[in-house]
Amino acid sequence: MDLRFTAEEEAFRRDVRAFIRDNLDPVTHHKMLDGRTPSKAEIVAWQRTLNARGWATPSWPKEAGGPGFSVVERYIFLDELHQAPAPEPISFNVSMIGPVLAAFGTAAQKERFLAATANIDIWWAQGFSEPGAGSDLAALRTSARRDGDHYVVSGHKIWQGMAHHADWMFTLVRTDQQAPKKQMGISFLLIDLRLPGVTIRPIVTIDGRHEVNEVFLDEVRVPVDCLVGEENKGWDVTKFLLSNERTGIARIGMTKHLVRRVKRLAGADEAVLRKVAALEAELKILEITQLRILDAQRGSNAADPRSSVLKLKGVELRQAASELLLEAAGPAALEIASDEDPLGEDDAEWLGSIMPNYGILRAASIYGGSSEVQKTIVAKTLLGLS
Ligand SMILES: Cc1cc2nc3c(=O)[nH]c(=O)nc-3n(C[C@H](O)[C@H](O)[C@H](O)COP(=O)(O)OP(=O)(O)OC[C@H]3O[C@@H](n4cnc5c(N)ncnc54)[C@H](O)[C@@H]3O)c2cc1C
Repeated sequence: MDLRFTAEEEAFRRDVRAFIRDNLDPVTHHKMLDGRTPSKAEIVAWQRTLNARGWATPSWPKEAGGPGFSVVERYIFLDELHQAPAPEPISFNVSMIGPVLAAFGTAAQKERFLAATANIDIWWAQGFSEPGAGSDLAALRTSARRDGDHYVVSGHKIWQGMAHHADWMFTLVRTDQQAPKKQMGISFLLIDLRLPGVTIRPIVTIDGRHEVNEVFLDEVRVPVDCLVGEENKGWDVTKFLLSNERTGIARIGMTKHLVRRVKRLAGADEAVLRKVAALEAELKILEITQLRILDAQRGSNAADPRSSVLKLKGVELRQAASELLLEAAGPAALEIASDEDPLGEDDAEWLGSIMPNYGILRAASIYGGSSEVQKTIVAKTLLGLS
């Protein structure tokens, strides 16, 4: 096993770092440094800057318009974005629907959607979860019945991240109510959110921000050419998409950024610094684990069940870092965050994002496969427990 990066990989890291430094808009960068959310326009602009460089879609195969990164290059690229910090490519477009269309889409769907997805000419939302169907996703009830050249779709989706920015939603619907197993009879459908019968309602989360939504579908007529894969075989497409979503990395670079903020606030506070040291030790262990998994994946793009460990532990450490930040800031963290005057150096802005970020980071152990679900995967696939 060799955990060192090659000279080419180190050179690639320098290229990425220089590109971010030279091209990331300072207002967007400042918001990211402060832990605030860039606007839709800022996110789209950055994605298009990356796209012009050929880097907007790090996980796409070359044939689909991707850069053809190795797993290690993909890791380095995202690590540099996290540490800068700069916005990640939008996961709904880049990690979820893009690879699905490349693998399962018809030639017409690839032609229609892939380039527009990379450039965020189309912003996608993920319409999977429903009330009563989250971890147990196959329990979903949104129905689609065939009527000539259309499916007529009715149902209630919940927790759609950024759906208020989205143009289209990839979604799961039940097309066979009589299927013998709940995983059968599900189809994967692309829905234009501007169609009649679609209603998007905001959910304001504990951080006071509006990032997730409910989506109501009332007799929405969706053309049949928006079906991806075969009718009633959507579960195969879903498993492919979820394995990409969960091959999620530990986002160690983001935690390092949070730790840097803690150190800046903690000053000489020994109690906090002792906890920082313990956290950094755990972070180092996770980084080595990540590198071991990456080394095993060199030359292969197969999903690795050990990535569940990365998601699980990565989230725990990110949450722990946000908690330390709160401890280091103390009552000052109750300052109200302001999105006004984004270039101002006022500490209130910087401090004001600590409490909301601490709150919303609790959700990281729920989305993308909850921690309990990850532990079950680890128990079954890695520890051989049944
Ligand atoms: C901020 C946020 C953003 C999201 N974005 C999206 C999105 O864009 N699109 C989308 O479709 N969905 C999205 N989700 C939904 C997310 O995928 C679900 O919330 C998640 O799958 C959990 O489902 P649930 O909320 O129904 O909880 P449940 O599945 O009901 O789980 C409740 C609790 O029970 C535990 N649990 C459930 N099953 C088991 C089990 N078998 N063994 C042990 N424990 C178990 C869970 O870990 C959890 O602690 C988002 C959620 C959040 C919070």
